Amino acid sequence: MTNESVMSPVISLAGVVKSYGDLTVLHGVDLHVERGELAAIVGPSGSGKSTLLNLIGTLDRATSGTVRVAGRDVGALNDQQLSALRARHLGFIFQQYHLAPGRSALDNVADGMLYAGLPQSERRKRAASALERVGLGHRAGHRPCELSGGEKQRVAVARAVVGEPDLILADEPTGALDTKSGEAVMGILRDLNADGATIVIITHDQAIAASLPRQVRVRDGQVIDDRGPVIAA
Ligand code: ADP
Ligand code: MG
Repeated sequence: MTNESVMSPVISLAGVVKSYGDLTVLHGVDLHVERGELAAIVGPSGSGKSTLLNLIGTLDRATSGTVRVAGRDVGALNDQQLSALRARHLGFIFQQYHLAPGRSALDNVADGMLYAGLPQSERRKRAASALERVGLGHRAGHRPCELSGGEKQRVAVARAVVGEPDLILADEPTGALDTKSGEAVMGILRDLNADGATIVIITHDQAIAASLPRQVRVRDGQVIDDRGPVIAA
């Protein structure tokens, strides 16, 4: 790891604008997230939360402004460098799980490391232990259609963390789940954060947002309120 990535915030956005044609969705966002934070992004539907998370996750590029992730100015990286950054540093969790339907839970998780350059046997071993970690060791051979929503999301969490990313980005991870399954997923994310992962979660759930140390409030493409960061000294 370079000195730079140790010293700087995990996420650092300055004056970030995102436009789709004539439609400007983000109007100059500044946001800094330090290593070890657990932060919520909240705001009305259509306010730009997913757009913001996708820029942080390097799934999309800013129209202007600077996006730094894990100490790298992602605007300066080519697609191959971005892929490497994602594989090494980022884990994603989506509301609709995004699991491959025909593949077992184990294969879905092992595929999360396809770009890590590990032999298949090692990938499967690590995938099995990631499934254990989310309490699904006994479901490793099941395909997504044989799992409940909560179990599917726990598989998706296992896939996101199997490469031991420093930053986990979750877009409404409990949005499709009942309260109990949602709490199970949140419990796993809290444990991962306690183990050192930096986590940013978009949520509509006021109770979840209020329970997190930091809430970033987005409205009409701008950060209008930011409680925190709260980091133990
Ligand atoms: P949120 O996640 O807060 O609900 P989004 O970031 O998904 O909001 O969307 C913000 C705005 O950007 C919306 O008006 C949406 O229609 C628009 N938008 C998002 N993605 C695209 C796209 N690829 N092309 C055009 N408009 C988009
Ligand atoms: Mg969204």
